[in-house]
Amino acid sequence: GVRGEEVLRVEGLRKAFGGLLAVAGVSFALRRGEILALIGPNGAGKSTTFNLVTGAIPPDGGRVFLFGREVTGLPPYRIHPLGLGRTFQHPHLFPELSVLENAALGTYARTRAGFLQVLLGLYRKEEERALSTAYQALKRVGLEGLALERADRLTAGQQRLLEIARLLASGAEILLLDEPGAGLRAGEKRELAHLLKGLAREGYTLLLVDHDMDLVMGLADRVVVMNYGEKIAEGTPKEVQKNPLVRAAYLGE
Ligand code: ADP
Ligand code: MG
Repeated sequence: GVRGEEVLRVEGLRKAFGGLLAVAGVSFALRRGEILALIGPNGAGKSTTFNLVTGAIPPDGGRVFLFGREVTGLPPYRIHPLGLGRTFQHPHLFPELSVLENAALGTYARTRAGFLQVLLGLYRKEEERALSTAYQALKRVGLEGLALERADRLTAGQQRLLEIARLLASGAEILLLDEPGAGLRAGEKRELAHLLKGLAREGYTLLLVDHDMDLVMGLADRVVVMNYGEKIAEGTPKEVQKNPLVRAAYLGE
């Protein structure tokens, strides 16, 4: 695809839980190859926004477009094969399966075999292809040397990389990363930032949430700031850092 083409658009997204408006009319768009960070204090509505974009929960209002096609209200299993997938704040791995098998589970999103069939190894040909795709993805994140280890032998940082590998193996081109830097040491964060920048240069599009301002500001092309469900600012890292509304939201200034 062409770099710079709009791949994701969110218009007026709204979600209430009881009387609480968790996401109150949020709009933003992403172009191919961009890294957009979604930041804001705890409870601002960042994870809910993720859940609305991936289809995990239906919005009460607003629309989501993927590659120009409206996907509002579609469930994750219909949205993921179109090229959008996510990682979780706490990695969702199968601890007793190997690193390679965990990465291969990502491929169920793009094969005709179901998740369980891939898990049980019922589709031989699909399985071979899945393992080769998974191995390539492990190489991309630098985990190929640990392919045959059990997933629970990995450090927290390696488990995050494995989640990203599984996402790459799934064929997703738009990667939603919920706190990818959480629990990582400084060196691991630098490696993560290097990996994510490389992916964006290759044409992956990244939407990420993280609390680490150094990581976010060093990584993101653009930043959307949320507070109490609303978008209060959007701009380059420099622009939002200077924005008085943002400083007030974070520091009570
Ligand atoms: P963030 O990720 O920015 O910390 P969240 O999107 O998780 O914020 O939450 C936004 C608000 O919505 C919070 O007040 C949170 O308590 C509330 N919330 C989130 N998910 C639910 C839910 N499933 N049921 C009820 N309230 C929720
Ligand atoms: Mg959250």
